[in-house]
Amino acid sequence: MFGTVWRPAVSEPQYNIPMRTIAILALICGQALAAGPIVDTAKSPHAAFHPVAITSVKMGSGFWEDRRKINLERSLPSMLQLFEQNGWIDNFRRLSGKAVSRRGPLYTDSDVYKWMEAVAWQLAAGDVPQLRADFDRLTDIIVAVQEPSGYLNTYYQEDQKPKRFTEMVRSHELYCLGHLLQAAIAYYRVTGNRKLLDAGIRYADYVVSRFGVDEEPAMTGHPEFEMALAELYRVTGQRKYLDFAGYLLSGVETQRLHLTPAQTKYAFSGSPFTGRTIFEGHAVRAMYAASGATDYYMETGDPAYQDTLDRLWQDLVSYRLYITGGVGSRASGEAFGEPYELPNAQAYTESCAAIATFMWNWRMLLAFGESKYADVMERSLYNGINSGMSLDGTLYCYRNPLESTGEKIRNEFYDTDCCPPNLERTFAALPGYLYAASSDGIAVNFYHTSTMDAHGVKISQTTEYPWNGRVELRIDGTTNKEWNLRLRIPAWSSQTSITVNGQPVASQIHPQPGRFAEIRRAWKAGDIVVLNLDMRPRFTSANPLLREDMGRVAVERGPLVYCLEQGDQPSLRLFESSLTQTGEFKEERRPDLLGGLIVLHHAGTETAAPLKGASLYQTFPSPPLPKRPIDLALIPYYAWANRGPSNMEVWIPLGGL
Ligand SMILES: [Zn+2]
Repeated sequence: MFGTVWRPAVSEPQYNIPMRTIAILALICGQALAAGPIVDTAKSPHAAFHPVAITSVKMGSGFWEDRRKINLERSLPSMLQLFEQNGWIDNFRRLSGKAVSRRGPLYTDSDVYKWMEAVAWQLAAGDVPQLRADFDRLTDIIVAVQEPSGYLNTYYQEDQKPKRFTEMVRSHELYCLGHLLQAAIAYYRVTGNRKLLDAGIRYADYVVSRFGVDEEPAMTGHPEFEMALAELYRVTGQRKYLDFAGYLLSGVETQRLHLTPAQTKYAFSGSPFTGRTIFEGHAVRAMYAASGATDYYMETGDPAYQDTLDRLWQDLVSYRLYITGGVGSRASGEAFGEPYELPNAQAYTESCAAIATFMWNWRMLLAFGESKYADVMERSLYNGINSGMSLDGTLYCYRNPLESTGEKIRNEFYDTDCCPPNLERTFAALPGYLYAASSDGIAVNFYHTSTMDAHGVKISQTTEYPWNGRVELRIDGTTNKEWNLRLRIPAWSSQTSITVNGQPVASQIHPQPGRFAEIRRAWKAGDIVVLNLDMRPRFTSANPLLREDMGRVAVERGPLVYCLEQGDQPSLRLFESSLTQTGEFKEERRPDLLGGLIVLHHAGTETAAPLKGASLYQTFPSPPLPKRPIDLALIPYYAWANRGPSNMEVWIPLGGL
């Protein structure tokens, strides 16, 4: 009926999909290509998905649009003010003669560039004259101090000038340039203004001509530049930028740069990327390196990169990914730990590392078109990234632990202020992640009320996700042309139903968790697709080898990880409370609480306070302490620490009376 033809979701990786993609879709729909995606894989021969232009997606009200409104109205203006107060902008003005000393660590330029990238993506949703003026003003300040050679960095000046490009493991020079380019490309894609882009190209040309196998040796030290180079190649069509990314990723300069194994491990650069077998060292560096390597793969199809990326992704999800989508267990070196080394209270889980995980999995989704990458993105976004910014948009987490005894975790500014503008650019760019074109249709990667108008197809999506699993999509703009609508079925959705114009389609092929459901049909204007995802709260247990979580469960509902916070049970001793295995969850809608959310209630127990004088150690087995039944109230993890420092726990002991 309705001419719907179902095909099972593919189970094997969609490697090396030929470059028909948008061209075919454009042919189907009779439309020209749009410009302005976050990562532009329109011409990438080894990309399965091609994001639609961010300007072609409008987000309607809901979970993320509330966040984005606060980001626009509070976070972006207040962060610019803080940059001014802390001297980040004066670091540039100083080079134009302003009599101030340089302030902050050597990478402050990148914080400003990330903020500018956030502004650029935000402007895609509609003009904001003040923000646009701020961007242009900053551009003038920055471009004014670019040296004739193209070099542009506020730290390596005066007495530091002789050290330029001599301490690449720590210098962040290429990292800062990478962020400059990403801000410039974003602004160019959204507004057409290329003043900053031209400055970035001058600097990139300086670097590309000075370094290389037959020139001076280089490494990124803090990877990031690789991604920017790939994007610069996509913008300009100039192969030299991609080739330079390949040179950096090849890591052939270990000897010429006298790098030690400890340095190449920490920096996740300076040795061949394709020789990597595990994630180790500095978590953000490693994830950015993998992101750049995926960009490089999408352009070259080099099988050695594909093998390495597959191996690293398996390493990530098998051993190193927190349930919140954060990575990087150790404070020391901001680093990955050993397999299963995922401490809760001591988790470092820098906001930037969760963002980098999101960015890498975005590129893996684009490369291979598999839903599992979007699942990781969603886990990071709703939890370990979302926790990074306070609900009022003015305080930020650097660390995102999974257990707390009340430390002050949110601050308005950090001397190393990488995370705040990174969060801001991520939220600003969200519309660009929702939809992508594939070889034969449109994929809906994420669910949020929105409209998409690209490639001759209009999709109007209405949903209260993540609070409600019902998603309605109305298709317009297409006239009886056959194409595939791909809907991502998250791995956690055990029971999913899909109807087209009220008729169930599950009888033909059951939508499989963790795959894209494909609905292929000759779509007509006004067709309505309704997807129902399984939002029942669930207990999640960890691999038994993750000893930290032994005997404990996490509570999840849809994409949200929940936690116990003291404020919701003020009279309980939180760390002596357990969840009871039996019993149902009760959902309580609380529009008044923490920006509006669903509280989950579940039966639990509280262990009686120990008797005075009771010994600390006893011969095993010790008699059990009495317990009393209690009601435990859980809130989404992202919302914790918005009522001041507080006890909090994600992995909760499972006990019983
Ligand atoms: Zn950070």
